[in-house]
Amino acid sequence: MGDDHNNRVPIIGVARHRLAVDGQGVTTLVAFHGCTLRCRYCLNAQCLRANGFSRTITPAELIDEVMIDNLYFLATGGGITFGGGEPAIRSEFIDAFCRLAPSEWHITLETALNADRHHLERLLPHVHQYIIDIKDVNPDIYRRYTGHDNQRVLENLRWLLSHDGMAERIVVRVPHIPDYNTDADVNRSREYLDALGICHIDEFTYRRMERE
Ligand code: SF4
Repeated sequence: MGDDHNNRVPIIGVARHRLAVDGQGVTTLVAFHGCTLRCRYCLNAQCLRANGFSRTITPAELIDEVMIDNLYFLATGGGITFGGGEPAIRSEFIDAFCRLAPSEWHITLETALNADRHHLERLLPHVHQYIIDIKDVNPDIYRRYTGHDNQRVLENLRWLLSHDGMAERIVVRVPHIPDYNTDADVNRSREYLDALGICHIDEFTYRRMERE
């Protein structure tokens, strides 16, 4: 599975020379097309439209493309951030990519974590840092905002945390979602995450922007 270097997937773009945006050092963001959720204020709504991708790419082609910044990655401790869309559902691609990539590259996954466990198991040996947008831990708020259930998210988070040292490698983003949650809801999410042992929480506010 992981040696399929010809696995071609749709992407919405590759952005180079990102500094201190996501992940450490200089990073290149690879944004996949496709997502398991339907967030009301999705900033990358093109990743939800069937024809919203810019091109398709294989792991070997992506290596060739991002290798141009190898020296930046090595000098700054940076590397590749996989986002989207939902990168976790592209685990086969990321697995094949990481087997080809220099082992020094720092790999970050920007995810909503609403993906089948087998994807996370496949990604575990490769990912150094997880940036997890939890939305809201309240299942009713989560369902109203994303159209989906969050039970799998919370189970996946607990599973990740069952690995030694994992809490240090996870940043959980806790958004204020206009019209969907309140400050009190955000505080409840924070308390839930504190109780799980999450030490890095990034609280912020979504822009109110209804999808068409
Ligand atoms: S998880 Fe991200 S990409 Fe997916 S629908 Fe929500 S905001 Fe959009």
